[in-house]
Amino acid sequence: MMLSIILPAYNEEENIEVIYERIKNVLTGSEYKYEIIFVDDGSTDNTERNILNLIQTDKAVKLISFSRNFGHQSALIAGYSNCNGDAAITLDCDLEHPPELIKDLIKKWESGYDIVNAIRIDANKNASFKKYSSRYFYRLFSVFTDVKLEEGSADFRLIDKKIIDNIKNLGERELFLRGIFGWLGFKTTNVQYLPNKRFSGTTKYSMRKMVSFALTGITSFSVVPLRMAALTGFLVAALTSIYMAYALASALLIGNVLDGWTSLILAVLFLGGVQLIAIGVLGEYIGKIFIEIKGRPRYVIKSIKGW
Ligand code: UDP
Ligand code: MG
Repeated sequence: MMLSIILPAYNEEENIEVIYERIKNVLTGSEYKYEIIFVDDGSTDNTERNILNLIQTDKAVKLISFSRNFGHQSALIAGYSNCNGDAAITLDCDLEHPPELIKDLIKKWESGYDIVNAIRIDANKNASFKKYSSRYFYRLFSVFTDVKLEEGSADFRLIDKKIIDNIKNLGERELFLRGIFGWLGFKTTNVQYLPNKRFSGTTKYSMRKMVSFALTGITSFSVVPLRMAALTGFLVAALTSIYMAYALASALLIGNVLDGWTSLILAVLFLGGVQLIAIGVLGEYIGKIFIEIKGRPRYVIKSIKGW
């Protein structure tokens, strides 16, 4: 039996060696054969060189290099597509995900689970913006979709080979992995862990990337936002019809219709806003159709080493 460890890396030069040693410590002496696959997501620092150094001394290390930065999710998918393991474990290489937990993930897998999610528990209560936004995103996601997404789930998990095969067959270009695992079903369980501080470097998820990630996540699993646009339209129309009755009555029966600038400007602005929101929602989905229809690959591989 073989395990594949998949590590997406984007400008993580200082972390490569450390995470490698930690994983090595966990896996040496275990009954499994293993491969450690780094996916260099277009790093501009020495990440690639540091991984190549590891390849020279250890046959278990492999490297997939992208031609540019394609994003965390694409890196994970490239790892899944190229791994040979009977199970694959993904984790960040900034050491926020403690490699020692791999043992617990494997134990659950051995006892028959196909997907084992590592769930982050928050130790310190003074939540940062990142924590808040992530928490509310997970709640929003659950409101909008039928797929259950556990709060605190990141892309730290073990999946069985049969799940990998299913992932490979999904044609979507904008794959939101965290949701897909829930959607696929299979026997799933959780393992909890306390996250560590990022060992070196800074977060690679900028505000822009986080917003785009959240939008992709929700729009790939839900048409509720589209319905909301229509719903708002109905609501506004209904309210307007009541107001219309009032306006007509006051014009025809009472006859004092000079006032009205306030209501007029309010109605115009409000409706304009609603229309823009609705168009924005439409645009989001049409953009998605546009991206999917082109059928471009999710990533472009520059080189593969260690195989
Ligand atoms: N990552 C990546 N491509 C990107 C952004 C991030 O491969 O475009 C990797 C990154 O190197 C790390 C993991 O994805 O191993 C998680 O990123 P990060 O730690 O920056 O995110 P955070 O933990 O702050 O959410
Ligand atoms: Mg991190």
